[in-house]
Amino acid sequence: MENSQEKIAKEKIQALSQEIHLHNEKYYNLDNPSISDYAFDQLLKELEALEKQFPHLKTIDSPTQNVGKKPVESAQITLHKNKMYSLSNSYNFQDLELWQERIQKNIPEESIEYFCELKYDGASINLLYQNGNFTRALTRGDGIRGEEVSQNILTIPSIPRKIEPDFPAEFEIRGEVMLTLEAFEKLNKEREENGLELYANPRNTASGSLKLLDATEVKKRGLDCFLYHVSGEDLPFKTHEHMLDWAKNKGFNVPNTGKHCSDLQSVKEYIDHWESQRENLPFEIDGIVIKVNSLNHQNILGYTAKAPRWAMAYKFKTERVSTALLDIEYQVGRTGSITPVAILKPVDLGGTTVKRASLHNEDFISNLDLKIGDIVYVEKGGEIIPKVLGVDLSRRSSDCKDVDFPKVCPSCGSELIKAQGEANHFCPNSMACKPQVLGRLVHFVSRKALNMENLGQETLELLLKENLVKAYPDLFFLTKEDLLPLDRMAEKSVSNILESIQKAKSMPYAKVLFALGIRHVGETVSKKLAQHFSIEDLKKISVSQLLEIGDIGEKIAQSIVDFFADPIYLSWVETLQSVGLNFEVSTQNKLSSVLENASFLFTGKLALFTRDMAKEMVEQYGGRLLSSVSPKLDYLVIGESPGSKLTKAKDIPSIQILTETQFLEKIGKI
Ligand code: AMP
Ligand code: ZN
Repeated sequence: MENSQEKIAKEKIQALSQEIHLHNEKYYNLDNPSISDYAFDQLLKELEALEKQFPHLKTIDSPTQNVGKKPVESAQITLHKNKMYSLSNSYNFQDLELWQERIQKNIPEESIEYFCELKYDGASINLLYQNGNFTRALTRGDGIRGEEVSQNILTIPSIPRKIEPDFPAEFEIRGEVMLTLEAFEKLNKEREENGLELYANPRNTASGSLKLLDATEVKKRGLDCFLYHVSGEDLPFKTHEHMLDWAKNKGFNVPNTGKHCSDLQSVKEYIDHWESQRENLPFEIDGIVIKVNSLNHQNILGYTAKAPRWAMAYKFKTERVSTALLDIEYQVGRTGSITPVAILKPVDLGGTTVKRASLHNEDFISNLDLKIGDIVYVEKGGEIIPKVLGVDLSRRSSDCKDVDFPKVCPSCGSELIKAQGEANHFCPNSMACKPQVLGRLVHFVSRKALNMENLGQETLELLLKENLVKAYPDLFFLTKEDLLPLDRMAEKSVSNILESIQKAKSMPYAKVLFALGIRHVGETVSKKLAQHFSIEDLKKISVSQLLEIGDIGEKIAQSIVDFFADPIYLSWVETLQSVGLNFEVSTQNKLSSVLENASFLFTGKLALFTRDMAKEMVEQYGGRLLSSVSPKLDYLVIGESPGSKLTKAKDIPSIQILTETQFLEKIGKI
């Protein structure tokens, strides 16, 4: 009896450990979690309970013994000066009362005061300062060792490089690297425009961003960092609150949301307040952290192998419900890309009724192993759009049907195409597939494109139906006589429509390029194109020319080339030119054109400016940046110890070599 029970426990422990290790790997090393934090914690709790019941079955590498996972092999791994701990979790107020009882057992004589903070949902970071200088930044890693990510951390403007002199000679300061909801949504929007897989949430994106190799890319993402703990020797404070004030005074970004709470009752008020107000924060939190305020008390309490005994996380439950997946609908976007949408049995989620949720693409569906009729978990994080998180396999019935991802377009019946390396299928019938034809028009007039305010989707549908418009160039030939006979068209609305069409002629070139609706070309890429290429250049541009300006990847470049190689699109562009839309290279961000058309490349260690500044200066003065040495290069600007690029450039007589100072002289900065 005993034995068989133990055997079952052993198997269960093995299975749970394996599952948790796998989730850890996905979460920490791949930044791509497949279950919610809550579900993860439940697994961990189950394992902990079993290990408590059968202590001899606990292994040294049990996930209950370690924080997260080891850092990825390829990165530069460095020891933390002071170990980085995790936090113990609580999910209800009773857990906190029990915690207070344990504390009072160790500190019976004194009353315990707390300091409460938000539990910022990002990636932990540990910054080292020596003699007032930022020295390095490490991720948490396994708590003992972390990955060095200093370059990427330095892209965050609020991190001080240097602090005033009355500091301890050396200290570490911990915090959380965050991506605000706004920055996250912007990033995902760009990814969507570029046909890339969307990021799951701000937290994993922040942590993934820290590990990128290209700091310029990290900078664009707009990370921030909130600090919450200083560690080191002989630090000049007595309470946690005092420590935070000190850090704030030194210029660190310590949020003002923390609060001193003199008893558990006011801790509860703090928790209640933020549980209801978290939706209004510009970033995500996943709970509250309650810390014993007195550092003396903290010392008495000490640490377990994993977490301080003087701190406790109170985790909010993410709002999550289960409901039936009734069907999957396939939407065709303006560029022909197919998005599967879950049709759900309506369910209340945090006060709103959810009926639909995006399933992104075929891989998303197969990764979740979805079947029609399944009971799925739907969660609403800080973002507005609900997410399908997974399937409740225990409730799968034999009636559930496999998902048959369509082979043909649900709208026009054309065979779907899936390009290599792209997540989405798309319908190639761009000229006659209705959602594409309408979608292109809607996009063309939209606020971010040519902003034809008085022309809504309904009117566009009507114009299509009446055959007055087939594609966007036709808009410019509409007359009052065409419009007046239409349903619900009064004199006034007709003249408004015609006026907003005319207004488009004063829109900048970048907006016109964006309005063309070239696949993968979003607002950012349009601006880039408008700065570098005239429309005549674009008509005959090659992939390699596009790649040279940086920031444009192969897929986008190919799509631009394909667009201008298509005789129909080309004729549309020519019509737009003839009616007077703006196709002039924008000089908006340019300070002058002294470098007009000259191409530059920077090599070696730059002393007078950073790579980013160099890039910006070249662009502002009308030049172009290249990424390699070739006969197309006009100037190679060299810093300290330039390498092979200089050797190569010396073999090409047309390339001029400039020092940093000569470059600055050229643009008149010195
Ligand atoms: P967990 O990741 O669930 O083990 O929770 C521990 C982590 O919470 C720490 O490693 C920190 O990265 C993070 N955290 C977020 N906000 C705070 C805060 N105010 N104080 C301490 N840790 C925090
Ligand atoms: Zn179609």
